[in-house]
Amino acid sequence: MTSTPPSMSHSSSSTPTNNICDRCQGVPWDLIADPKQTSTDPYLWVSESHGQLKSSSCRICRLLANIKSPSLDGKICPLLSQRTCWIQCRSKWILDISQSSNLVHFGDESRGTIEVSRPDQIINIGIQRIDPEHVSFKRLQDCVSYCRQNHSRVCIRPTFQPASGFRVINCTDPAQRIVPAPPECKYAALSYVWGNTTRSCSSGVYPQVIVDAINVTLSMGLQYLWVDRHCIDQNNAMDKHNQISQMGNIYANSEITIIASAGTDATYGLPGISRPRKQQSGEVINGISLLEGFPHPVHAVKESAWARRGWTYQEAFLSPRRLVFTDYGVWYLCDKICLAEHEKVPITKISSLPTFEIRTFTPHPDLDDRYVAPRTRAANDMIVEYSRRELRYASDALDAMLGVLQFLETKGVYSIWGTVIYEERPVINWQHKHPGKRRPGFPSWSPLGWEGPIKLENFLGYNDFEVALGEKSETPLPGQNPISTTAAGLAKGGKDAPRFLHLTGYVVDLLLENIQWADSRKSHQTTFHLAAGEYKHNHTLSDGTYASLRISPETSVLAKAKLDGAEGPGASTRTRPVLGLLLRRYSDDAYYPHLMDPTVKNADFLLLERRQGGGGSGAWCWYYERIGYLECKIRAQEEEQQQEREKDYLQDTVFVDGVSGDVLDDVSIPRGDPLWREGAGWRTVVVG
Ligand SMILES: [Zn+2]
Ligand SMILES: [Zn+2]
Repeated sequence: MTSTPPSMSHSSSSTPTNNICDRCQGVPWDLIADPKQTSTDPYLWVSESHGQLKSSSCRICRLLANIKSPSLDGKICPLLSQRTCWIQCRSKWILDISQSSNLVHFGDESRGTIEVSRPDQIINIGIQRIDPEHVSFKRLQDCVSYCRQNHSRVCIRPTFQPASGFRVINCTDPAQRIVPAPPECKYAALSYVWGNTTRSCSSGVYPQVIVDAINVTLSMGLQYLWVDRHCIDQNNAMDKHNQISQMGNIYANSEITIIASAGTDATYGLPGISRPRKQQSGEVINGISLLEGFPHPVHAVKESAWARRGWTYQEAFLSPRRLVFTDYGVWYLCDKICLAEHEKVPITKISSLPTFEIRTFTPHPDLDDRYVAPRTRAANDMIVEYSRRELRYASDALDAMLGVLQFLETKGVYSIWGTVIYEERPVINWQHKHPGKRRPGFPSWSPLGWEGPIKLENFLGYNDFEVALGEKSETPLPGQNPISTTAAGLAKGGKDAPRFLHLTGYVVDLLLENIQWADSRKSHQTTFHLAAGEYKHNHTLSDGTYASLRISPETSVLAKAKLDGAEGPGASTRTRPVLGLLLRRYSDDAYYPHLMDPTVKNADFLLLERRQGGGGSGAWCWYYERIGYLECKIRAQEEEQQQEREKDYLQDTVFVDGVSGDVLDDVSIPRGDPLWREGAGWRTVVVG
């Protein structure tokens, strides 16, 4: 067996016998099928592209094309074997593996697997062929009853009484009318994408996805189905408001939620009900069966239009049990276990959820941690995930997340305007990866105030600002006035919460300017002269909006601003005066607060721009909006480890001469506070 890739040329182009090339013929398939085999060496190195394999005259090569996706083109991939249970049961150490099949795949980037088995083998854990036309409801029902019986401490949501006016589709009624929900109503809920289909919801004819969902509801032994567009009276504003504020509860209390993740609109329907799923390929070679195991459905779901939509986030997250319909079969997912339809495994052998990716759809276990920091981190991850999603109506930004925010409150994590509160301060040190678009009606300091994905890495550590809640027209409320998480209005997480932060902290005047770097400057090396010696740092600079902060009379640091919104026309020639409010500072001993060096080394600022205010008189009738985030990094690292860990540490940061503004190649970092700190005033600004 080879352990290094051979050259790109190989034997698969030779004339195949029995439609199988010499290379595939030479693989010891019977050995791979042997339950006792444990080899981790590659059986084959495959260099052909997906297209080349697909058009091969060898039928085994064509089967391999299914698991070597175009994304692996140009790579020479090893064909590896593994026990199926290691992939499907996620806890190899407690399993009786004797009845598991073996399979082959192309490593971590493989697009699924191929099971290799002998016809006489007894397999309890393996791949099974799914019927493209029909879903196996028996299995899904088994999963639901197993969950009901065994996961009563995990897959459970706070109980609620549906608000009056809660209506459902009666699926056993031949006319499938919408009726008031009976007491203790057990129902399925539908999570789907309406898409661009123009059909009106009052036409009396359900779109395909709802027709199919009615079918699934009945097949799962349920009578009632809840579908937002049909069960909420669209013409009754009061009812609509009541139901929308209950939306999270409606999903949380469903028996199952039917997730239509395939297709891009409501006409696509559910694969396995009104349209066939993809078919697994299979081959037999020398009496050994090869059967394709689909890639885990989570991949297809993550790519789907359904997963890009804002509303569906809480619909999936709050549901205790989900049936996810994909073109690769149905995927059962509760908070404890998940099972793809092609996976043959006894329910009792599935002991945990597999990959990190599933966390997008289920509550993170850290939400039950006894410490608030891990719970807050998990909640922030959810805000980040939500920011990646799109909403048709910007005004839905809070409503579509409200159920999740209410759920977080049951875990002791509070929020205001979708911004998580930690140690009585809202976590506002998020930043945009790329400029987004402002959502009117939401505060600029909230991630909900913008369209576009955010990142939020570290909310722990030194926060230098103080905060109070108030109104725009109020006299700025300085001083320590922490946000009480039990305050009325806040606890509801809704739009009645105050929307102005009165932020008190060190504020500096900054000038933003657009810089286009000469190509020769884009890769830059800075030499730092430190007491401990000198070291060189390579970094890159990109064009964009920069702010300058003076660190000594001779030297300023120029750092790129992460703007929240796109710059308007003419931005490249104009400068923009803004305020920088110091949010966080770091010194050399940031990890050891008791040794804290009080001098500022690195600092993060909120960038605030003045807006026309209103009401009251005096300075405070101006208010500010957040326009971006600025990281000013001046800490010269002296430790090898830190250099290694923070390779891109100084990306988009450069040091310039304090007088001429010329870029400096050699820098001395003075001891003590940077100069900008002297000019920073401790003041209160109102941010809306
Ligand atoms: Zn072949
Ligand atoms: Zn469960």
